[in-house]
Amino acid sequence: MKPCQSCQTVIDEYTLDKQLEPLRDLTVDDFNVCADCTTIVVDACVECSGAVYVPRNVAVTPDYCPACRADRIDRTGTDPGWHCDTVSN
Ligand SMILES: [Zn+2]
Ligand SMILES: [Zn+2]
Repeated sequence: MKPCQSCQTVIDEYTLDKQLEPLRDLTVDDFNVCADCTTIVVDACVECSGAVYVPRNVAVTPDYCPACRADRIDRTGTDPGWHCDTVSN
């Protein structure tokens, strides 16, 4: 059992797993925070229209879900961050 990085509560993996369900590729093992400290916004990713994960220190909803961000890093070798500069649609 790991404690939450931000509030030190022991992470309830079952609850967190349920909360992470809309996210592609991510499991509780990728997180060091509990479900209470995790914010998921569905349909927010500009690339795949999937759910995005809002990091604790980020005030606004990211444009990329973690999977698309990782894809971009793989493709371009650069980290786009959580936000795209230009939203094209
Ligand atoms: Zn927490
Ligand atoms: Zn995505």
